[in-house]
Amino acid sequence: MRKYLMAGNWKMNKTIPEAIALSQQLCNYYNREWDKVDVVLCVPAIDIKSVHTVLDFDKTDIELGAQNVHQEPSGAYTGEISIPMIKDAGCTYCIVGHSERREYFGETDEDVNLKVKELVLNKVNAIVCVGESLNVRDSERHIEFVTAQVRAALAGLDVEDLDKVVVAYEPIWAIGTGRTATPEQAEEVCAAIRATIAGSFTQEAADSVRVLYGGSMNQGNVDSLLAMQDIDGGLVGGASLDANSFKQLIEAAAKAS
Ligand code: PEP
Repeated sequence: MRKYLMAGNWKMNKTIPEAIALSQQLCNYYNREWDKVDVVLCVPAIDIKSVHTVLDFDKTDIELGAQNVHQEPSGAYTGEISIPMIKDAGCTYCIVGHSERREYFGETDEDVNLKVKELVLNKVNAIVCVGESLNVRDSERHIEFVTAQVRAALAGLDVEDLDKVVVAYEPIWAIGTGRTATPEQAEEVCAAIRATIAGSFTQEAADSVRVLYGGSMNQGNVDSLLAMQDIDGGLVGGASLDANSFKQLIEAAAKAS
């Protein structure tokens, strides 16, 4: 039985005081029902320490994640942060290969693969993002495209490493656009991702790996998306920036559990 995971991606939002306020509000909302769901806040690097202090003080099970990391443990990489740094600051998760990083910062499948390998080696959960552009979707090559991204991201991993991997299917045309994939469109790709993992590793591993949907998830569509067999939660951008709206999504996942 896979446990739902609801991960908030704050992107480049929230100053330190705002991050403290938002995480504190979520801690105030937290109740035992939320234990049915894994909840993670993927916050800007500068907010990690402060949010960790809030989460630690309130003793909830809400976990903390980074949004990107460099694969080298240290060195002359101005502006980057390393896995030992995020781990030391309290992160148990890290997003890798978000489409915005691929598009605006030139991250390649090879970069994503290096980061995933180092994260699992360091026992940090990798939320590996994959997803097609509208062009690819319109030309009906989305399954081929996304499954190739999955194979590239997970290349060279051992089957045991997969318990530190979450895959997030995020069609680029649905991110921040208010245009959500239909549950059937999302399910088709999430099922193909699981089948790809079964083909590259084992069916047992594929049955345990969590596959999330991301792309304008909100209160209006969360129930129908989570009702799909191969969707095990959400990577949530916009709707995670407000405590009340993210709470509604977490509670929808708890109810669906
Ligand atoms: C995201 O950034 O991963 C995302 C899914 O954003 P949004 O929910 O705003 O579409």
